[in-house]
Amino acid sequence: MIRAVKGTRDILPPSSNTWNHVESVARRVFRAYNYQEIRTPVFEETQLFARGVGEDTDIVSKEMYTFDDHGTSLTLRPENTAPVIRAYIEHRLDQNPGLQKLYYIGPMFRRERPQKGRYRQFSQIGAEAIGSDSPATDAEVIEMVTEILTQSGLGGFRIFINSVGCPQCRPGFVANLKQQLEGVTGKLCQDCQRRAATNPLRVLDCKIPECQPVIESLPSILDHLCSVCQPHFGQVQALLSSRSIDYTVKPRLVRGLDYYMRTTFEFVHGALGAQNSVLGGGRYDGLAEQLGSKVHSPGIGFSIGEDRLVLSLEESAPGAHQHVLDLYIAPMGEAAVLHAAQVAYEIRKRGSCVELGAGGKLKRNLETANKLGARYVLLLGDNEISAGVYALKDMASGEQLNLTREQLLDKF
Ligand SMILES: [Zn+2]
Ligand SMILES: [Zn+2]
Repeated sequence: MIRAVKGTRDILPPSSNTWNHVESVARRVFRAYNYQEIRTPVFEETQLFARGVGEDTDIVSKEMYTFDDHGTSLTLRPENTAPVIRAYIEHRLDQNPGLQKLYYIGPMFRRERPQKGRYRQFSQIGAEAIGSDSPATDAEVIEMVTEILTQSGLGGFRIFINSVGCPQCRPGFVANLKQQLEGVTGKLCQDCQRRAATNPLRVLDCKIPECQPVIESLPSILDHLCSVCQPHFGQVQALLSSRSIDYTVKPRLVRGLDYYMRTTFEFVHGALGAQNSVLGGGRYDGLAEQLGSKVHSPGIGFSIGEDRLVLSLEESAPGAHQHVLDLYIAPMGEAAVLHAAQVAYEIRKRGSCVELGAGGKLKRNLETANKLGARYVLLLGDNEISAGVYALKDMASGEQLNLTREQLLDKF
């Protein structure tokens, strides 16, 4: 038997209903905030991610699906901010009026160790607002993502925010951090020992328990913010408070990607255990220039781990997004089979979900309708057709209504 590749999976009904629910909520909220969809290819030139995400990140150094395509190195996208910025530059979207507000929903690929809620093909719902360095944009993005989670039905998540500084103030902090780490590398996990030399900032968000005592003792980036970053972060906080959005400042929150500067944020939810982050995001004001833009294009974005969001929703409210079969039609007799198809067509055209039975014994038909969870069953025999009366059975109450064709259609 051929099975799905390790780290990938099939999303089957009824779970796919929760996926559709989350995506339709997200599209509705994006629309309300004037975001429009962008669809980029699932593979890009490898150098886009090497330059955009950073050579020293876990993603680029060990998790990418990279392959040679007749001399060109290509990579399945491990994230979608770099591709969106690539498209923004390529199509000169900076020429369009106003902020460019773009969202995407789709699969990403990382060769991670498979564990609960983590897959090698996973799906992200994300957005980028490009063209403003204002803290008001940061607050609006955080408000919007809060709406997506809340309207999806997720409660009890927590919002963590931080500032990771800018090219003016961060290097001083990183140098300081590197110095502090020199004496204690022996107490760190293997990954952190490497990070201490290559990318010391990343030690701060290591999740491994043995590293925590060292991390607690390290200096805070918030004590090193410059005269631009400091008030920016203060305004983001004031704007969130004025919207009654509950957040916690978490100075260790640096996120895994090199391109972040100033505001970073993360939403966590208890149902996910150690891998409890549902989404992450942040500001990346220098990314477009890093990818070749001649125009300064500051931006901020986020991505929701859709697999994890769906998992959280299914754990906190099992069966909340079940598929509903509105009507099962049980035709009895050959004339009824023909007639039933016409009735089914008319009701389906009105948008209701109809299953058409193949005919046969009434008892079998009722059993099938019951197993399928039909809300109503329409009993259709020669007598009903000749009399023009339709017997509609409410499966929850057991009540039976005798309706004219018009009355029947009005029910759906
Ligand atoms: Zn700064
Ligand atoms: Zn560590």
